[in-house]
Amino acid sequence: MSALCGATKLFEESILRKNVGLIDLVQMYPSMQIPFETLVQKCDTIMPRYYTIASSCIVAPKEIKIAISLSKFDTPHQENRLGLVSAYCELMSTDQSIKPRIFVKDSNFNMNNEAPLLMVGPGTGIVPFIAFSDERKHLKDAGSPIAEGHLYFGCRDVDNDFIYRDYLASMVD
Ligand SMILES: Cc1cc2nc3c(=O)[nH]c(=O)nc-3n(C[C@H](O)[C@H](O)[C@H](O)COP(=O)(O)OP(=O)(O)OC[C@H]3O[C@@H](n4cnc5c(N)ncnc54)[C@H](O)[C@@H]3O)c2cc1C
Repeated sequence: MSALCGATKLFEESILRKNVGLIDLVQMYPSMQIPFETLVQKCDTIMPRYYTIASSCIVAPKEIKIAISLSKFDTPHQENRLGLVSAYCELMSTDQSIKPRIFVKDSNFNMNNEAPLLMVGPGTGIVPFIAFSDERKHLKDAGSPIAEGHLYFGCRDVDNDFIYRDYLASMVD
C-alpha cells in the first residue's frame, strides 16, 4: 500500500485502470485503517443513469417503456458484479415496493411521418426506433398517411439479444 502512495504510474496502473473501488481497496489491504468519517467522505454521489424511452407518448401518454440491459462485469476481487442501476431495476421488476426517482427529459423532437424514414441502430440503439415504429403503426391504423420506413440494426446473439424479434416481425408490411 505504501508503495502505491506517491507512485503516480503504479497507482494509475494498479488502481485506476483496474477500476478498483473503495471496498476492493479495503479487501486488498486489510491492515489499512480508515477513519469512518474519511470513508463517508470518499463515497461518491451516485450519478443518474440515462435510459432511452422505447414507447410513444401518442400511443400511451401516461406510460413510459424502457429496455435495460443488465450490466455484468468482473472486479479484481469480486467476480461477477452487477451494474448498480441496471441491477436495481431488475430488483424493481420483482419488488413493487421499490420506488425509484425518475426524471424525464423534455424533448422538442417531432417526426415528419409523411417523409420516408431510414433508421440505423448499429449494435446498441434500436430502442428509440421501437418508439418510432409504435407511433407510426398507431397513426397508420388510425388512417394517417405514413411514408415507408426501413430499420437496420445489429444483433450479436440472435437467441439472447433479439428481444424485439416478434414485435419487429409484426411491423413488417
Ligand atoms: C444517452 C444514453 C442512453 C442510454 N440508454 C440506455 C438504454 O436505453 N438501455 C440501457 O440498458 N442502457 C442505456 N444507457 C446506459 C445506461 O445509462 C447505464 O450506463 C447502464 O445501464 C449501466 O449502468 P449500471 O449502473 O447498471 O452500471 P454501472 O454500475 O454504472 O457500471 C457500468 C460499467 O462500469 C464498469 N464498472 C463499474 N464499476 C466497476 C468496478 N468496480 N470494477 C470494474 N468495472 C466496473 C463495468 O464495465 C460496468 O459494466 C444509456 C446511456 C446513455 C448515455
